[in-house]
Amino acid sequence: MNVNAIPKVELHRHLEGALRYGTMKEWVVADRLLPASSPEAQFKDFILIDKPVDGLKVFLEKFGLIHQVLSSEARIQRMACEACQDAYAEGVRVLELRYSPVFIQGARKHLGFDQIHAAILQGIQQAVKSCPMAVGLIGILGREWDLRTATRVTDFFIENKDTVIGMDLANDEANFDGKPFAGLFRKARSAGLHLTVHAGESLIPTSSQSILSALDDLGAERIGHGVQIHKDPALMEEVARRGVLLELCPTSNILTKSIAAPAAYPINRIRAAGVKVCINADDPGVFDYDLNHEYRMLAQLHGLTEADFAAMNRAAFSSTPT
Ligand SMILES: [Zn+2]
Repeated sequence: MNVNAIPKVELHRHLEGALRYGTMKEWVVADRLLPASSPEAQFKDFILIDKPVDGLKVFLEKFGLIHQVLSSEARIQRMACEACQDAYAEGVRVLELRYSPVFIQGARKHLGFDQIHAAILQGIQQAVKSCPMAVGLIGILGREWDLRTATRVTDFFIENKDTVIGMDLANDEANFDGKPFAGLFRKARSAGLHLTVHAGESLIPTSSQSILSALDDLGAERIGHGVQIHKDPALMEEVARRGVLLELCPTSNILTKSIAAPAAYPINRIRAAGVKVCINADDPGVFDYDLNHEYRMLAQLHGLTEADFAAMNRAAFSSTPT
């Protein structure tokens, strides 16, 4: 099977996590974080997460580095352009990219949300000239945020609803409940934004409640990851009944140790329960793989066929607002 040739719909790719490795290396050298003469292994160790890691610390380090290098509009534009070009090269023809303006801005005074958003849109426009594809942007709230920040950012997404198709909730599911953001998710939905929520991602005893809360408290139309649902047949039945799509991100779950190994990825159990799923790369830059790697792994280890992939891409497409 030539997985590269499969036209793909990818709904869960983080813009910042898709920052191209070669570009990241270039900026790490330009910002004098590592000397240009550093061995390749040192660059990789500094930039990438390419083996399973424990806890959040390593992630925070790597994403901290991404934040650090995203220091100008020109760089943000280039990141967005290359993220689209890379997805296109992987066969993606409908792409939803998500990003957090708060993450990119950090403590920087010279970069406002408007400038960050405009730079991303310019990067996308630049890419689609030579890579004909549909690209939608999702705005992210962080679970660990205070309500004041989350309100400000929700309002920003609503003000930009012409160019933001939906809102997401991400980050530490183990320690932060999504419920405090229920009012903001209602507000976003009534303003016309679509809703997706990272839930059932972490290996925690409350993963089923987390998925249910995403659906019932936050009104999520799709679930980011949701993979832990495989342990709860009743919930799989309910999610199948509601027709909610899970945005599965296989290797991401293995690198974060929420699933033990590629061979243990429960995609067939979830699909057999009638739950709609699609395949996504999540953070292909920082994780050092691409979407075709995911398709190949699922074909080789789990027997998925071209017809299976076509069905999943159709399900993904019918879960987009376009
Ligand atoms: Zn994600």
